[in-house]
Amino acid sequence: MDAHIVLLPGDGIGPEIVSQARRVLETVAEKFGHSFHLSEHLIGGCAIDACGDPLPADTVDACRSSQAILLGAVGGPKWDDPSADTRPEAGLLRIRQELGLFANLRPIRTFDELVDASPLKRDIVAGTDILFFRELTGGIYFGESGRRDSPDGQTAWNEMVYSTKEVERIVRLAAQAAQQRRGHLTSVDKANVLEVSRLWRQVAERIVRDEFPDVQYDVVLVDAMAMHLISRPKDFDVVVTGNMFGDILTDEASMLPGSLGLLPSASLGEDGPGLYEPIHGSAPDLAGQNAANPLATILATAMLLRHSLNLSQEADAVEQAVETVLKAGHRTRDIAAGGDSISTTAMGDAVLAALA
Ligand code: NAD
Repeated sequence: MDAHIVLLPGDGIGPEIVSQARRVLETVAEKFGHSFHLSEHLIGGCAIDACGDPLPADTVDACRSSQAILLGAVGGPKWDDPSADTRPEAGLLRIRQELGLFANLRPIRTFDELVDASPLKRDIVAGTDILFFRELTGGIYFGESGRRDSPDGQTAWNEMVYSTKEVERIVRLAAQAAQQRRGHLTSVDKANVLEVSRLWRQVAERIVRDEFPDVQYDVVLVDAMAMHLISRPKDFDVVVTGNMFGDILTDEASMLPGSLGLLPSASLGEDGPGLYEPIHGSAPDLAGQNAANPLATILATAMLLRHSLNLSQEADAVEQAVETVLKAGHRTRDIAAGGDSISTTAMGDAVLAALA
Protein backbone atom coordinates (compact mmCIF):
# COMPACT_ATOMS: atom_id res chain seq x y z
CA MET A 1 0.00 0.00 0.00
CA ASP A 2 1.02 3.56 -0.78
CA ALA A 3 -0.37 5.97 1.83
CA HIS A 4 0.11 9.62 2.76
CA ILE A 5 0.01 10.19 6.49
CA VAL A 6 0.24 13.62 8.10
CA LEU A 7 1.91 13.90 11.49
CA LEU A 8 0.91 16.84 13.70
CA PRO A 9 3.21 16.63 16.76
CA GLY A 10 1.88 19.86 18.35
CA ASP A 11 3.08 21.08 21.74
CA GLY A 12 4.51 19.85 25.05
CA ILE A 13 5.17 16.10 24.94
CA GLY A 14 3.53 15.93 21.47
CA PRO A 15 6.80 15.84 19.48
CA GLU A 16 8.34 13.21 21.79
CA ILE A 17 5.42 10.78 21.60
CA VAL A 18 4.71 11.31 17.90
CA SER A 19 8.34 10.58 17.04
CA GLN A 20 7.95 7.14 18.69
CA ALA A 21 4.73 6.54 16.74
CA ARG A 22 6.56 7.58 13.58
CA ARG A 23 9.17 4.86 14.20
CA VAL A 24 6.32 2.35 14.63
CA LEU A 25 4.77 3.37 11.28
CA GLU A 26 8.17 3.11 9.58
CA THR A 27 8.71 -0.36 11.05
CA VAL A 28 5.22 -1.52 10.01
CA ALA A 29 5.86 -0.25 6.47
CA GLU A 30 9.13 -2.14 6.29
CA LYS A 31 7.85 -5.35 7.86
CA PHE A 32 4.65 -5.56 5.80
CA GLY A 33 5.98 -4.08 2.54
CA HIS A 34 4.05 -0.77 2.46
CA SER A 35 5.11 2.76 1.45
CA PHE A 36 4.01 5.34 3.99
CA HIS A 37 4.78 8.94 3.02
CA LEU A 38 4.98 10.82 6.31
CA SER A 39 4.99 14.62 6.49
CA GLU A 40 5.01 16.80 9.61
CA HIS A 41 3.01 20.00 9.94
CA LEU A 42 2.27 22.63 12.56
CA ILE A 43 -0.80 22.86 14.79
CA GLY A 44 -1.52 24.51 18.13
CA GLY A 45 0.85 26.70 20.13
CA CYS A 46 3.91 26.03 17.95
CA ALA A 47 1.88 27.16 14.92
CA ILE A 48 0.83 30.35 16.74
CA ASP A 49 4.51 31.03 17.46
CA ALA A 50 5.55 30.34 13.87
CA CYS A 51 2.79 32.18 11.97
CA GLY A 52 0.18 33.54 14.38
CA ASP A 53 -2.41 30.90 13.44
CA PRO A 54 -3.03 27.64 15.36
CA LEU A 55 -4.10 25.95 12.11
CA PRO A 56 -2.06 27.31 9.17
CA ALA A 57 -3.50 26.88 5.69
CA ASP A 58 -0.73 24.52 4.56
CA THR A 59 -1.55 22.18 7.48
CA VAL A 60 -5.19 22.05 6.35
CA ASP A 61 -4.15 21.42 2.72
CA ALA A 62 -1.78 18.61 3.73
CA CYS A 63 -4.46 17.01 5.92
CA ARG A 64 -7.07 17.18 3.18
CA SER A 65 -4.83 15.41 0.71
CA SER A 66 -3.75 12.70 3.17
CA GLN A 67 -5.35 9.36 4.02
CA ALA A 68 -4.88 9.75 7.77
CA ILE A 69 -3.61 12.18 10.39
CA LEU A 70 -1.77 11.43 13.62
CA LEU A 71 -1.85 14.19 16.23
CA GLY A 72 0.20 14.49 19.45
CA ALA A 73 -1.39 17.15 21.63
CA VAL A 74 -1.76 20.92 21.70
CA GLY A 75 -1.62 23.62 24.36
CA GLY A 76 0.42 24.66 27.35
CA PRO A 77 0.91 27.50 29.84
CA LYS A 78 2.84 29.60 27.30
CA TRP A 79 -0.39 30.16 25.35
CA ASP A 80 -2.80 30.35 28.29
CA ASP A 81 -3.14 34.17 28.38
CA PRO A 82 -6.95 34.71 28.42
CA SER A 83 -6.55 38.01 26.57
CA ALA A 84 -4.68 36.38 23.64
CA ASP A 85 -6.35 36.62 20.21
CA THR A 86 -6.26 32.88 19.65
CA ARG A 87 -5.49 29.67 21.53
CA PRO A 88 -3.87 26.36 20.53
CA GLU A 89 -7.14 24.43 21.09
CA ALA A 90 -8.79 26.53 18.36
CA GLY A 91 -6.55 24.70 15.87
CA LEU A 92 -7.89 21.36 17.03
CA LEU A 93 -11.54 22.42 16.88
CA ARG A 94 -11.04 23.88 13.40
CA ILE A 95 -9.33 20.81 11.93
CA ARG A 96 -12.23 18.65 13.17
CA GLN A 97 -14.71 21.02 11.51
CA GLU A 98 -12.70 21.37 8.29
CA LEU A 99 -12.63 17.59 7.88
CA GLY A 100 -16.24 16.98 8.98
CA LEU A 101 -15.19 14.54 11.70
CA PHE A 102 -18.54 13.57 13.23
CA ALA A 103 -17.65 10.31 14.98
CA ASN A 104 -15.29 10.04 17.92
CA LEU A 105 -14.12 6.53 18.67
CA ARG A 106 -12.65 5.71 22.07
CA PRO A 107 -11.60 2.18 22.87
CA ILE A 108 -11.49 1.44 26.59
CA ARG A 109 -9.51 -1.67 27.24
CA THR A 110 -7.79 -2.88 30.36
CA PHE A 111 -4.35 -4.46 30.21
CA ASP A 112 -4.13 -7.36 32.59
CA GLU A 113 -0.66 -6.36 33.83
CA LEU A 114 -1.90 -2.89 34.85
CA VAL A 115 -5.32 -3.74 36.12
CA ASP A 116 -4.34 -3.11 39.72
CA ALA A 117 -3.84 0.58 38.81
CA SER A 118 -7.59 0.81 38.15
CA PRO A 119 -9.69 2.42 40.88
CA LEU A 120 -12.05 -0.56 40.52
CA LYS A 121 -11.56 -4.07 41.83
CA ARG A 122 -9.77 -6.52 39.52
CA ASP A 123 -12.73 -8.92 39.28
CA ILE A 124 -15.01 -6.12 38.06
CA VAL A 125 -12.70 -4.43 35.59
CA ALA A 126 -10.31 -7.09 34.23
CA GLY A 127 -11.23 -8.05 30.67
CA THR A 128 -13.10 -4.79 29.91
CA ASP A 129 -13.03 -4.05 26.18
CA ILE A 130 -15.48 -1.34 25.07
CA LEU A 131 -15.47 0.77 21.91
CA PHE A 132 -17.39 4.04 22.32
CA PHE A 133 -18.82 5.97 19.38
CA ARG A 134 -19.58 9.53 20.44
CA GLU A 135 -21.35 11.84 17.97
CA LEU A 136 -19.06 14.85 17.74
CA THR A 137 -20.60 17.62 15.64
CA GLY A 138 -24.23 17.82 16.75
CA GLY A 139 -26.38 17.78 19.87
CA ILE A 140 -26.52 20.35 22.62
CA TYR A 141 -22.93 21.61 22.13
CA PHE A 142 -23.83 22.89 18.68
CA GLY A 143 -27.47 23.93 19.17
CA GLU A 144 -28.57 27.54 19.49
CA SER A 145 -28.14 29.13 22.88
CA GLY A 146 -29.02 32.38 24.51
CA ARG A 147 -30.12 34.33 27.53
CA ARG A 148 -33.12 36.48 28.24
CA ASP A 149 -34.10 38.66 31.13
CA SER A 150 -36.55 37.06 33.53
CA PRO A 151 -38.24 38.33 36.69
CA ASP A 152 -35.66 36.62 38.92
CA GLY A 153 -32.63 37.79 36.93
CA GLN A 154 -31.80 35.93 33.72
CA THR A 155 -32.80 32.71 32.01
CA ALA A 156 -30.30 30.83 29.83
CA TRP A 157 -31.06 28.08 27.30
CA ASN A 158 -29.31 25.62 25.01
CA GLU A 159 -31.05 23.72 22.23
CA MET A 160 -30.33 20.01 21.83
CA VAL A 161 -30.84 19.06 18.20
CA TYR A 162 -30.30 15.85 16.21
CA SER A 163 -31.51 15.08 12.71
CA THR A 164 -32.35 11.65 11.30
CA LYS A 165 -29.26 11.77 9.07
CA GLU A 166 -26.93 12.61 11.96
CA VAL A 167 -28.19 9.63 13.96
CA GLU A 168 -28.17 7.27 10.98
CA ARG A 169 -24.54 7.85 10.04
CA ILE A 170 -23.07 7.36 13.51
CA VAL A 171 -25.25 4.33 14.29
CA ARG A 172 -24.19 2.75 10.98
CA LEU A 173 -20.51 3.21 11.80
CA ALA A 174 -20.98 1.79 15.29
CA ALA A 175 -22.99 -1.21 14.03
CA GLN A 176 -20.31 -1.95 11.41
CA ALA A 177 -17.69 -1.91 14.16
CA ALA A 178 -19.85 -4.25 16.28
CA GLN A 179 -19.94 -6.70 13.36
CA GLN A 180 -16.12 -6.70 13.34
CA ARG A 181 -15.98 -7.22 17.12
CA ARG A 182 -18.25 -9.26 19.39
CA GLY A 183 -21.46 -8.34 17.57
CA HIS A 184 -23.13 -6.38 20.40
CA LEU A 185 -24.25 -2.73 20.14
CA THR A 186 -25.66 -0.61 22.96
CA SER A 187 -27.27 2.76 22.24
CA VAL A 188 -27.39 5.22 25.13
CA ASP A 189 -30.04 7.93 25.34
CA LYS A 190 -32.48 9.68 27.67
CA ALA A 191 -35.66 8.75 25.81
CA ASN A 192 -37.78 8.74 28.97
CA VAL A 193 -37.39 12.54 29.13
CA LEU A 194 -36.00 14.05 25.91
CA GLU A 195 -37.80 14.25 22.56
CA VAL A 196 -34.42 14.36 20.81
CA SER A 197 -33.56 11.02 22.43
CA ARG A 198 -36.89 9.54 21.29
CA LEU A 199 -35.93 10.37 17.68
CA TRP A 200 -32.42 8.98 18.32
CA ARG A 201 -33.88 5.70 19.62
CA GLN A 202 -36.38 5.35 16.78
CA VAL A 203 -33.73 5.92 14.10
CA ALA A 204 -31.11 3.71 15.78
CA GLU A 205 -33.58 0.83 16.14
CA ARG A 206 -34.59 1.07 12.49
CA ILE A 207 -31.01 1.14 11.20
CA VAL A 208 -29.92 -1.86 13.25
CA ARG A 209 -33.10 -3.86 12.52
CA ASP A 210 -33.05 -3.21 8.74
CA GLU A 211 -29.31 -3.17 8.01
CA PHE A 212 -27.59 -5.13 10.77
CA PRO A 213 -29.92 -7.98 11.76
CA ASP A 214 -26.93 -10.02 12.96
CA VAL A 215 -26.01 -7.39 15.60
CA GLN A 216 -27.36 -7.91 19.11
CA TYR A 217 -28.81 -4.51 20.03
CA ASP A 218 -29.98 -2.93 23.26
CA VAL A 219 -30.71 0.52 24.64
CA VAL A 220 -29.71 1.90 28.03
CA LEU A 221 -30.66 5.20 29.64
CA VAL A 222 -27.66 7.45 30.23
CA ASP A 223 -28.10 7.61 34.01
CA ALA A 224 -28.20 3.82 34.21
CA MET A 225 -25.17 3.61 31.90
CA ALA A 226 -23.16 5.78 34.29
CA MET A 227 -23.76 3.11 36.94
CA HIS A 228 -23.27 0.07 34.69
CA LEU A 229 -19.88 1.36 33.55
CA ILE A 230 -18.47 0.98 37.04
CA SER A 231 -20.52 -2.02 38.18
CA ARG A 232 -20.36 -4.28 35.09
CA PRO A 233 -18.10 -2.74 32.39
CA LYS A 234 -17.32 -6.16 30.89
CA ASP A 235 -20.90 -6.48 29.63
CA PHE A 236 -20.43 -3.88 26.88
CA ASP A 237 -18.90 -4.21 23.42
CA VAL A 238 -19.73 -1.20 21.19
CA VAL A 239 -21.58 1.77 22.71
CA VAL A 240 -23.05 4.58 20.59
CA THR A 241 -24.35 7.85 21.97
CA GLY A 242 -24.77 11.60 21.39
CA ASN A 243 -22.26 14.35 21.96
CA MET A 244 -22.87 15.38 25.57
CA PHE A 245 -23.65 11.90 26.93
CA GLY A 246 -20.57 10.60 25.11
CA ASP A 247 -18.39 13.38 26.48
CA ILE A 248 -19.28 12.45 30.05
CA LEU A 249 -19.38 8.65 29.69
CA THR A 250 -16.07 8.39 27.83
CA ASP A 251 -14.32 10.42 30.52
CA GLU A 252 -15.86 8.21 33.18
CA ALA A 253 -14.78 5.11 31.24
CA SER A 254 -11.25 6.46 30.74
CA MET A 255 -10.66 5.92 34.45
CA LEU A 256 -11.28 2.16 34.18
CA PRO A 257 -7.87 1.10 32.80
CA GLY A 258 -6.01 3.19 35.40
CA SER A 259 -3.77 5.26 33.13
CA LEU A 260 -4.33 8.12 30.71
CA GLY A 261 -1.08 7.28 28.93
CA LEU A 262 -2.60 4.14 27.36
CA LEU A 263 -5.77 5.46 25.76
CA PRO A 264 -6.04 6.35 22.07
CA SER A 265 -8.93 7.90 20.16
CA ALA A 266 -10.00 8.45 16.57
CA SER A 267 -12.27 10.95 14.86
CA LEU A 268 -13.82 9.93 11.56
CA GLY A 269 -15.86 11.70 8.89
CA GLU A 270 -18.05 10.43 6.07
CA ASP A 271 -15.09 10.21 3.73
CA GLY A 272 -11.63 11.76 3.76
CA PRO A 273 -8.92 11.23 6.34
CA GLY A 274 -9.49 10.25 9.96
CA LEU A 275 -7.68 11.97 12.83
CA TYR A 276 -5.96 9.80 15.44
CA GLU A 277 -4.58 10.96 18.78
CA PRO A 278 -4.00 10.00 22.40
CA ILE A 279 -6.79 11.18 24.72
CA HIS A 280 -4.34 12.92 27.07
CA GLY A 281 -3.12 16.48 26.67
CA SER A 282 0.33 17.98 26.12
CA ALA A 283 1.52 17.25 29.71
CA PRO A 284 3.67 20.42 30.00
CA ASP A 285 4.99 19.11 33.34
CA LEU A 286 6.79 16.28 31.46
CA ALA A 287 7.71 18.03 28.22
CA GLY A 288 11.35 17.78 27.17
CA GLN A 289 12.21 15.16 29.80
CA ASN A 290 11.93 12.04 27.61
CA ALA A 291 9.62 10.65 30.31
CA ALA A 292 6.16 10.64 28.71
CA ASN A 293 4.37 7.41 27.92
CA PRO A 294 4.17 7.02 24.12
CA LEU A 295 1.85 3.99 24.21
CA ALA A 296 -1.46 5.86 23.77
CA THR A 297 -0.06 7.48 20.61
CA ILE A 298 1.30 4.15 19.41
CA LEU A 299 -2.13 2.60 20.01
CA ALA A 300 -3.65 5.53 18.08
CA THR A 301 -1.36 4.47 15.24
CA ALA A 302 -2.88 0.98 15.39
CA MET A 303 -6.36 2.56 15.10
CA LEU A 304 -5.13 4.58 12.10
CA LEU A 305 -3.92 1.42 10.38
CA ARG A 306 -7.22 -0.35 11.06
CA HIS A 307 -9.80 2.37 10.39
CA SER A 308 -8.21 4.60 7.72
CA LEU A 309 -5.91 2.19 5.85
CA ASN A 310 -7.88 -1.01 6.35
CA LEU A 311 -4.73 -2.79 7.54
CA SER A 312 -6.15 -4.87 10.37
CA GLN A 313 -3.34 -7.40 10.49
CA GLU A 314 -0.82 -4.58 10.89
CA ALA A 315 -3.02 -2.93 13.54
CA ASP A 316 -3.23 -6.21 15.46
CA ALA A 317 0.56 -6.53 15.29
CA VAL A 318 1.05 -3.07 16.84
CA GLU A 319 -1.47 -3.78 19.61
CA GLN A 320 0.15 -7.13 20.23
CA ALA A 321 3.57 -5.46 20.49
CA VAL A 322 2.25 -3.05 23.13
CA GLU A 323 0.83 -5.95 25.08
CA THR A 324 4.15 -7.78 24.84
CA VAL A 325 6.16 -4.86 26.27
CA LEU A 326 3.70 -4.45 29.14
CA LYS A 327 3.86 -8.19 29.85
CA ALA A 328 7.66 -7.98 29.83
CA GLY A 329 7.40 -5.36 32.60
CA HIS A 330 8.47 -2.22 30.70
CA ARG A 331 6.98 0.85 32.37
CA THR A 332 7.21 4.59 31.88
CA ARG A 333 6.98 6.67 35.05
CA ASP A 334 3.18 7.18 34.90
CA ILE A 335 2.50 3.42 35.05
CA ALA A 336 5.47 2.33 37.17
CA ALA A 337 3.61 2.67 40.50
CA GLY A 338 6.82 4.03 42.09
CA GLY A 339 8.97 1.17 40.70
CA ASP A 340 11.67 1.27 38.02
CA SER A 341 10.76 3.22 34.90
CA ILE A 342 12.15 3.71 31.41
CA SER A 343 12.23 6.70 29.07
CA THR A 344 9.91 7.56 26.18
CA THR A 345 12.51 6.47 23.64
CA ALA A 346 13.30 3.24 25.52
CA MET A 347 9.58 2.41 25.48
CA GLY A 348 9.58 3.10 21.73
CA ASP A 349 12.61 0.79 21.36
CA ALA A 350 10.81 -1.96 23.28
CA VAL A 351 7.72 -1.72 21.03
CA LEU A 352 9.87 -1.81 17.90
CA ALA A 353 11.72 -4.88 19.19
CA ALA A 354 8.40 -6.60 19.93
CA LEU A 355 7.10 -5.69 16.45
CA ALA A 356 10.19 -7.05 14.76
P1 NAD B 1 -2.76 16.34 30.44
O1 NAD B 1 -3.47 15.16 29.89
O2 NAD B 1 -1.78 17.00 29.54
O3 NAD B 1 -2.02 15.93 31.79
C1 NAD B 1 -2.71 15.41 32.93
C2 NAD B 1 -1.72 14.59 33.77
O4 NAD B 1 -1.43 13.37 33.11
C3 NAD B 1 -0.36 15.28 33.97
O5 NAD B 1 0.13 14.97 35.25
C4 NAD B 1 0.52 14.66 32.91
O6 NAD B 1 1.89 14.65 33.27
C5 NAD B 1 -0.04 13.26 32.83
N1 NAD B 1 0.10 12.71 31.48
C6 NAD B 1 -0.62 13.05 30.38
N2 NAD B 1 -0.19 12.38 29.32
C7 NAD B 1 0.82 11.59 29.73
C8 NAD B 1 1.68 10.66 29.09
N3 NAD B 1 1.58 10.38 27.79
N4 NAD B 1 2.61 10.04 29.83
C9 NAD B 1 2.73 10.27 31.14
N5 NAD B 1 1.94 11.12 31.81
C10 NAD B 1 1.00 11.79 31.12
O7 NAD B 1 -3.90 17.37 30.88
P2 NAD B 1 -3.76 18.86 31.47
O8 NAD B 1 -2.58 18.95 32.38
O9 NAD B 1 -5.09 19.19 31.99
O10 NAD B 1 -3.51 19.78 30.20
C11 NAD B 1 -2.22 20.19 29.75
C12 NAD B 1 -2.38 20.94 28.43
O11 NAD B 1 -2.88 20.02 27.44
C13 NAD B 1 -3.39 22.09 28.49
O12 NAD B 1 -2.87 23.15 27.74
C14 NAD B 1 -4.63 21.52 27.85
O13 NAD B 1 -5.41 22.51 27.23
C15 NAD B 1 -4.02 20.61 26.81
N6 NAD B 1 -4.90 19.50 26.36
C16 NAD B 1 -4.81 19.17 25.05
C17 NAD B 1 -5.56 18.10 24.59
C18 NAD B 1 -5.40 17.73 23.14
O14 NAD B 1 -4.49 18.20 22.48
N7 NAD B 1 -6.25 16.87 22.61
C19 NAD B 1 -6.38 17.36 25.43
C20 NAD B 1 -6.40 17.71 26.79
C21 NAD B 1 -5.65 18.79 27.25
